[in-house]
Amino acid sequence: MFHRILIANRGEIAVRIIRTCREMEIETVAVYSTADAEALHVKLATRAVCIGPARAADSYLNLPAILTAAVETGCDAIHPGYGFLSENAELADLCAECGLKFIGPGGDVIRTMGNKAAARMLMRENRVPVVPGSDGPVRSLEQAAAVAGAVGYPVLVKASSGGGGRGMRRVDAPEELPGLYAAAQAEAVACFGDGELYVEKLILHPRHIEFQVLADSHGNVVHLGERDCSIQRKNQKLVEESPSRGLDADLRQAMGAAAVRAAQCARYQSAGTVEFVLDGSGAFYFIEMNTRIQVEHPVTEMITGVDLVREQIRIAAGLPLGMTQSEVRQNGHALECRINAEDPGAGFRPGPGTTRFLHLPGGPGVRVDTALYCGCVMPPQYDSLAAKVVVHAHTRLEAIRRMRRALEEVVIEGYPTTADLCHLILYHPDFVKGKYDTSFLERHLEALLQWEGEGER
Ligand code: ADP
Ligand code: ADP
Ligand code: MG
Repeated sequence: MFHRILIANRGEIAVRIIRTCREMEIETVAVYSTADAEALHVKLATRAVCIGPARAADSYLNLPAILTAAVETGCDAIHPGYGFLSENAELADLCAECGLKFIGPGGDVIRTMGNKAAARMLMRENRVPVVPGSDGPVRSLEQAAAVAGAVGYPVLVKASSGGGGRGMRRVDAPEELPGLYAAAQAEAVACFGDGELYVEKLILHPRHIEFQVLADSHGNVVHLGERDCSIQRKNQKLVEESPSRGLDADLRQAMGAAAVRAAQCARYQSAGTVEFVLDGSGAFYFIEMNTRIQVEHPVTEMITGVDLVREQIRIAAGLPLGMTQSEVRQNGHALECRINAEDPGAGFRPGPGTTRFLHLPGGPGVRVDTALYCGCVMPPQYDSLAAKVVVHAHTRLEAIRRMRRALEEVVIEGYPTTADLCHLILYHPDFVKGKYDTSFLERHLEALLQWEGEGER
């Protein structure tokens, strides 16, 4: 087993990884930018190394600085978390060259799955259903128009390197295509340094259903069930739950098998997530695979009792999976709400600042993953995720009630957050019935915000 792991991340996920390392009696090295000198992950790690100034490109994305820190502190592995360098194939390759274990899949796997157009092709060849669209990337506007015409509007123009809901445009009619194609391309170049695009049919009112998979270096692959992440704003998740109200046992079985097949054909190792959209008729389509730990992984941990970070570390150390598919149990119901430092009334504009007062919930079945403490600063340079509130209960209704009361206990002063909006979602009749799809939040946002205003009067 590893002796010392460098955590190439910050915020709640760095804290989350440190916690498992401590339980496994593995030392941790935190890295931090000058903006994070007082951050919680720095305080909790065995030791910490400053790797550069606030700008992510100079610190958390600074490959040489991170590798140097790992080698100089005598680490034997690097955990990349999510975001930042977690899906950077070069980091995985360079780790191997430096004699470090990268806690994730190999560089070649990251490269294949990181190109979403290439991943689609690989899936299709292996009988994993993909959304109708282009065969690989489109090379020109004309080619995009031909594909869109063939599959029928509306379509999505998507960046091959896309992530975090960026580099994607919905196109409803041919005359819109030139402008939106150019806009998607510009955003893709700006965000990912790669303007390659592909085209998918837009599935109307789908659910976003993803499967958690674990694959070891001995060829064992299991899935740990689904997460329904259909409550989204700007194609980014806000509330997640498991199990999904949209699946029956047969569909769960079929999608789980497809997810396992996806991991197998990619020769995947480590924890990963296979994302699908599910339409109203029960047809499901692969959209992408995330080759890292996911923000919403605690939902799966709550219902399976599996520590996914621990499994990632064990797999990277060459150990076999701690379970077979038939040993995976899904107990009860779990929900997660993302508390972002954003103003839902102002287009979810991030508004970070100093946490002047903080009270977080607790009690039975409640887990909070956060790096916040009273007085801490949320630097404007990074992700706006402030805390994740996760609950577990026997039934869905109990989980909803538990989440409502947990959110009622949340007090964060200093900046606006999504906590109240999440609380209101938990009272919406369609949410309570489990009848929602990815258009839920956009459709109901105005009414929910109005509700909130009325509550304050
Ligand atoms: P998840 O399903 O885990 O939420 P996301 O795709 O939304 O997955 O991304 C998780 C985190 O990583 C988010 O904080 C997002 O802002 C960040 N992220 C996603 N893709 C990239 C990328 N290519 N570069 C930098 N950050 C990214
Ligand atoms: P990212 O890499 O940014 O996470 P995804 O390809 O996973 O991008 O898509 C993000 C979200 O956009 C999905 O969760 C889903 O809500 C929506 N989406 C993506 N592809 C489609 C599609 N073909 N039809 C309908 N919705 C889609
Ligand atoms: Mg996605």
